[in-house]
Amino acid sequence: MHVPKIVKIKRIIEESPTVKTFMFDWEVKNEIPGHFMMVWNFYDEKPMSISMIDPLKNEIGISIKNIGKFTGQVHELSPGDKLGLRGPYGRGFHITGSKVLAVGGGIGMAPIVAFSEEASRIGVDVHVISAAGTMNELLFNDRIQRSGSKLLTCTDDGSHGFCGFGTDLAEKAMSEDDYDMIVSCGPEIMMKKLFEMVEKFKIPAQFSMERYMKCGMGLCGQCCVDDLGWRVCVEGPVFWTDELKMITEFDKYKRDSSGVKHSIP
Ligand SMILES: Cc1cc2nc3c(=O)[nH]c(=O)nc-3n(C[C@H](O)[C@H](O)[C@H](O)COP(=O)(O)OP(=O)(O)OC[C@H]3O[C@@H](n4cnc5c(N)ncnc54)[C@H](O)[C@@H]3O)c2cc1C
Repeated sequence: MHVPKIVKIKRIIEESPTVKTFMFDWEVKNEIPGHFMMVWNFYDEKPMSISMIDPLKNEIGISIKNIGKFTGQVHELSPGDKLGLRGPYGRGFHITGSKVLAVGGGIGMAPIVAFSEEASRIGVDVHVISAAGTMNELLFNDRIQRSGSKLLTCTDDGSHGFCGFGTDLAEKAMSEDDYDMIVSCGPEIMMKKLFEMVEKFKIPAQFSMERYMKCGMGLCGQCCVDDLGWRVCVEGPVFWTDELKMITEFDKYKRDSSGVKHSIP
């Protein structure tokens, strides 16, 4: 399991000017939304959420936003090129309840679209809030609608859907509808606001957290969070509200590859 499997890129989907989904043949066993893979391009290895799980075709997809050296290199690849994949890793989303609100911001939509497809498939009424800076960066609209989930979009510049933040839309949704659960992945500032809201509305919630990872399998300690030292790659990346309360660095700071703390803007 911990040795990368060398796989060919089967196809590439251009999701937005900055995001591409890379599809692979992969024997789907216990992969669930919220799990991540370590992706190796033979120079470096980085964690990436599984954004598509198809047990019928035995395919998985990884959606990568081009923001730096590694992601830029992967964006240069073509179908037929090879990557190393190991995983799945981490604790994914627990699907429970009959009506769920799923909130994703930016590339945080990667595990959220997989969640909306899987939860809708098993009969959960899923409402998805998809937030992005502008219309061209909204991700996976077609897949969410095809899954049967209700889609609510919002953009910072008002070019598509509600003009404003996903959290504004989430507050409106929570006050108008009765949700059994909230799931979320996106910028920490967004998740912090959601965290406060679910406390107010008393709705169980799960949040997918990002921290710098190296091994991805709980050995190196790179992604341990204060104060309890939980490893985000093993005990997370998905945490329930009561667990998040104990992560004192949430919304405050994160560590870089050297372990140096950087405050979260
Ligand atoms: C559990 C998890 C799931 C993720 N899922 C996705 C996903 O589905 N799609 C996606 O595009 N990105 C995802 N990321 C983030 C992705 O791993 C980083 O954005 C990527 O590694 C950046 O690499 P870079 O060399 O292109 O950029 P760099 O310029 O090296 O880094 C840019 C920023 O990315 C973050 N980053 C860099 N290396 C790592 C690392 N090893 N671990 C964690 N964060 C890092 C840091 O905040 C850094 O400041 C996920 C991260 C985690 C922890």
